[in-house]
Amino acid sequence: MDEAKKKPTPLNRFGNPAETEIPKNAPLAEKPGHRLRTSGQIVDRKALSPENSASSPNAFSGPSFRNPRERFRFDGHKLLYHLDRVQSWQSGERIAPIHIDMGLTKFCNIACLYCYGVVQNMAKGSMIAPEALLRFIEDAGRLGVRSIGFVGDGEPTLNPAVYDAASLAKKKGIDVAMATNGIELDLTRADEILRNFSWIRFNLSAGTPEGFTRVHQASGALFDNLVEKIRTLARLKKERGYPCTLGLQMVLIPECVDQVLPEAELGKKLGVDYFVVKHCSDSEYKEIGIQYEDYLKLGELLAKAEAMSGPDYTVQVKWDKINAAGETAIYKNGFRKYDICYGTPFLIQISGNGKVYPCGPFFNKERFFCGDIHETFFYDIVRSERYWAVQKDIQESVDVHKDCAIGCRQDYLNKFLWDLKNPPEHVNFI
Ligand code: SF4
Repeated sequence: MDEAKKKPTPLNRFGNPAETEIPKNAPLAEKPGHRLRTSGQIVDRKALSPENSASSPNAFSGPSFRNPRERFRFDGHKLLYHLDRVQSWQSGERIAPIHIDMGLTKFCNIACLYCYGVVQNMAKGSMIAPEALLRFIEDAGRLGVRSIGFVGDGEPTLNPAVYDAASLAKKKGIDVAMATNGIELDLTRADEILRNFSWIRFNLSAGTPEGFTRVHQASGALFDNLVEKIRTLARLKKERGYPCTLGLQMVLIPECVDQVLPEAELGKKLGVDYFVVKHCSDSEYKEIGIQYEDYLKLGELLAKAEAMSGPDYTVQVKWDKINAAGETAIYKNGFRKYDICYGTPFLIQISGNGKVYPCGPFFNKERFFCGDIHETFFYDIVRSERYWAVQKDIQESVDVHKDCAIGCRQDYLNKFLWDLKNPPEHVNFI
């Protein structure tokens, strides 16, 4: 509306602007208790009838569903859906992890610029032996582990047992998922893959062959092959009705900023379910060299990418971590909103060589080594004194502000558990 034609805001008796939203047809109370700061006019709630209240909030028209259900929870945690195990932990029980992230190998076939696996000491040819992997899955089922992500320090598809492990996990009632660069994904087993995995996330931080070569340090021809594989998988999933979720994930570093929009478009064309953009987790020594304040300049670009979402395709940015540097200037130095890491009994990480640790950033640190699934049954590792001594050591000795990787996997859990462990006064007044 033209500024000049705007109705002037009425002033109250003190000369301050004071405007109500009382509809014209609303019945007014004859005797308001006293004058409010606006005027003496208040609505007579008793006199409201469905006819004259149609334009008022008292019409009670029912939920209008303006908040669609969040399809994925990329930017947060799901511990609220496992309160049984949270309660057991609170009462001091030695619980089984709800989720395990694990590498199946300790090497890769490409060389992404942001690879955290490199700071975890990659070792060419090193992987979990197939029989140890399958035995581990059996044990995870016995313990009550609810999900396993083949998300770790090496490329999982380079372990020949990856598909059999997924199939066994499914049989044992464990949800299984995988993050892969996709290059060696065996599409002759496409049906098996789509049947057994709950989701597959392609670690792809480029939308063009040039971008792929720059960020993943691999040939543009590999990009073309990969894109065709993803397209085929997305088509088969739809044609054959598999529920497996397929997504693309970009780890945002300066070298792939120009790839955000091309990849958002690519994802839509390929028919995947989502494209997610996340921050890059740097190590405690900042070996990847991420300047977290730089993310704050990219809001507009990232919002543009999110606007490409549609009914069957979600583009989502992990804003919580992307904007963390804006929330507190000290975040860039690794300071967190809690002081103790309580998350590791719920979510542990296993290296691609079979060694069990409470978390990925502590791979190769002997002090936190819990056992090796080649040498000890995983069932026994989780029930051992050593495992629980390590968990205790994490809580008592680790300074999460200084000793840890920035934005580690357990970060969201830790915020929630810290709150649970440090309740405010009067918790019954919910
Ligand atoms: S907070 Fe520290 S100890 Fe806990 S999981 Fe993260 S990196 Fe590991």
